Amino acid sequence: MHKHHSALGLATAHRPVNPVTLIRPHAARRAARFFVEKFPGKTLYAVKANPSPDLLRILWESGVTHYDVASIAEVRLVRETLPGAVLCFMHPVKAEEAIAEAYFTHGVRTFSLDSMEELHKVSRATKGAPDLTLCVRLRVSSEHSKLSLASKFGIAPGEAKELLFAARQVADALGICFHVGSQAMTPDAYAQAMERVRQAIVDAAVTVDVIDVGGGFPSSYPGMEPPPLELYFETIHRAFESLPVSYSAELWAEPGRALCAEYSSLVVRVEKRRGDELYINDGAYGALFDAAHVGWRFPVSLLRELDSRAKDMAFSFYGPTCDDLDHMTGPFMLPADVQAGDYLEIGMLGAYGCAMRTGFNGFGKAEVVEVTDEPMVSLYTATEREVASNVVKL
Ligand SMILES: *Cc1c(COP(=O)(O)O)cnc(C)c1O
Repeated sequence: MHKHHSALGLATAHRPVNPVTLIRPHAARRAARFFVEKFPGKTLYAVKANPSPDLLRILWESGVTHYDVASIAEVRLVRETLPGAVLCFMHPVKAEEAIAEAYFTHGVRTFSLDSMEELHKVSRATKGAPDLTLCVRLRVSSEHSKLSLASKFGIAPGEAKELLFAARQVADALGICFHVGSQAMTPDAYAQAMERVRQAIVDAAVTVDVIDVGGGFPSSYPGMEPPPLELYFETIHRAFESLPVSYSAELWAEPGRALCAEYSSLVVRVEKRRGDELYINDGAYGALFDAAHVGWRFPVSLLRELDSRAKDMAFSFYGPTCDDLDHMTGPFMLPADVQAGDYLEIGMLGAYGCAMRTGFNGFGKAEVVEVTDEPMVSLYTATEREVASNVVKL
């Protein structure tokens, strides 16, 4: 793999014709160490955010031993890449064949579920195994998050009694899990979800061994600067300590975005300018699905050796395919003199960005280059002073 010091160095030295994915192993290492050292429980990496084997190895070497996988392909991938990893199959609706292969071939013992049907499926597929950790997925609100995960999965806390009771009969260890939605902008999201967990435990009167608070830990994007992660951890810890669970109960989290957003960015070229619209060589079918389909704003910067003196103005982007859907509203703030031939860096694409590239319309090839400079934004480099002033603002 090629290495470069920075995005600017790469753009000026090579003038790449295709988009280039930049990876920053040091940024992923820093995020992983932060969770491993500061989260008051076990950290499971949610593999779907970015399944790159290079990233998986970095997380493993940084102390992340548990992996949240959601398909049999992810089970196989992580098992092959990290033979010693503990895999937890946390998709509540699985194929019976996938459960059987995960259990008998790959040593998976932890499964999530949100229905009686799925409980029976897991029992059948594992032939009544006595060593299962079963996590019942509760439905919680996504109101504090930028991307909802509230409709598709999860049993309503008021209806969970029977399922919790039945799962308790089958499970060696019983867990409760939930997901507050991705990019949760306040720790209150977790505090409120934990109240629902309390209610469900009290109603069902079962002994619970694992509380899994899921993903949703935020990263920083333009217009979406969250409070420090330490506050999320404190809120979760306090709520966990007050739950009526067994004295040896474990606390788990499944961060995806927060562990890998800073790992990758993208260098693109402007192929045409039409007023405040820039036609760039990557888009909705490449690494920028979220920019196109959910209006996500990513940080952008113009890569020129001599800094532009023009004032910033708002641009929108068109990607390279031939359809109107390949459009990203932004606004993306760039110097007003951007023109065709310029290179841009688009930051924070390590989570749900570079992992979603397709080959549609003949576009989709992106070389990968390792760089050693800092990501455009980081949650993990704030000085003590900045953290303190954020706390005061809250
Ligand atoms: C997607 C997902 C995650 C990761 O969510 P982030 O918002 O990226 O942290 C964790 N757990 C489950 C079950 C998921 O579906």
